[in-house]
This record gives sequence, C-alpha cells and structure tokens, in this order.
Amino acid sequence: MSKTSLLVVNGATATFDCSFGRGCVGLCCQHGEPSVTPAEYERIRDHLPQVLPHLRPEAAKSLESDDFIGAEIKLGNPMVRVVDGWCLFFNEGCVLHKVGALEGNFSKYKPIQCTMFPLEPNGDGSWYVRQWNHEGEQWNDLFCLNPENTTLKAIDTMAPEIAVAETLGPDFSWE
Ligand code: SF4
Repeated sequence: MSKTSLLVVNGATATFDCSFGRGCVGLCCQHGEPSVTPAEYERIRDHLPQVLPHLRPEAAKSLESDDFIGAEIKLGNPMVRVVDGWCLFFNEGCVLHKVGALEGNFSKYKPIQCTMFPLEPNGDGSWYVRQWNHEGEQWNDLFCLNPENTTLKAIDTMAPEIAVAETLGPDFSWE
C-alpha cells in the first residue's frame, strides 16, 4: 500500500483502475471541458509549439482562428474548447499529459482538474475518490468510478496523482 501523508477520506475502500487503452477510449475527455487557471492558461499557451504537432488535425486547425479556451466559465475560470466532440487537447490520449511526460513531468501542462481525476478536494486539506453514489456523484455511468469495477485500491493506483496533490497544500480548492 502507498505511503502518503494526504488524507483521502475514503482511501480505505475506494477502488480505481484507469482502463484507458484497455477498453476505454478516454471517456473522461469526451466533451471534457476542464477550466484552466490563469497560470495554467499561460503555461499551455507558451508551450503550444510543442503541443501543436501532437493534436488532431481538426483541433490544430481550430487554433489557427481561435484560442484554446472558449467563453464559458466553470469554477471561476474559462473552459478548454471541445472540437468534434472531444477536448481540443485529446488525441488518443491527453496531448498535454504526453508532452509533459516527454519532459519528465506528466502534470506539467495538464490542467489540475484533469490531473487529479477522480480525486476531489474537500476544501479542508482532505480529499476523496469519486465513486458511484458517493458524495452526490453525478457520473454514475462511468464504469471506472464503479467501486466494483476493480479491486485495486485508488490510493495505490493513483500514487503519482496523490504525490501531486501533496504539493497543493491544505487550502487547495478548484477555484
Ligand atoms: S486537458 Fe487532457 S486530460 Fe483534460 S479533458 Fe483535455 S485531453 Fe482530457
């Protein structure tokens, strides 16, 4: 079991096994519209030359005439646009994740909302793992949030993401 100082309130029971590429086509990025903080926005914008070659052609083309964020606001910040039903940055996986990983840090460019999924902050320094019918979960048909989908403990499979969460501090919230 992973050693972490992070308090994950349902860590003893929550399960999670991301099956992207093993039966999941990346459903959490389909119509995925993470919002980006000003700092995230600038970081992605400044590295678009590295990102562009990895995008779907239609997503890259859309950037010729438009920004990667749209006018809609979520959690106080503008949301990444969707192109042809998928997050602009999705191309058989998250391009921002891929470019960051190539530079040695998968979370370097990825919006924190995406990096942490399905971990949610409680706003008091503790976190919980999203699971079907837990804490008012809305996404009760996403199979990876079904606690019966796997026996693997989320705090083990999500050790890299939990390590990122540990750097965020006790006052962290999405806004
Ligand atoms: S930024 Fe990456 S992880 Fe987040 S929705 Fe878009 S493709 Fe998916």
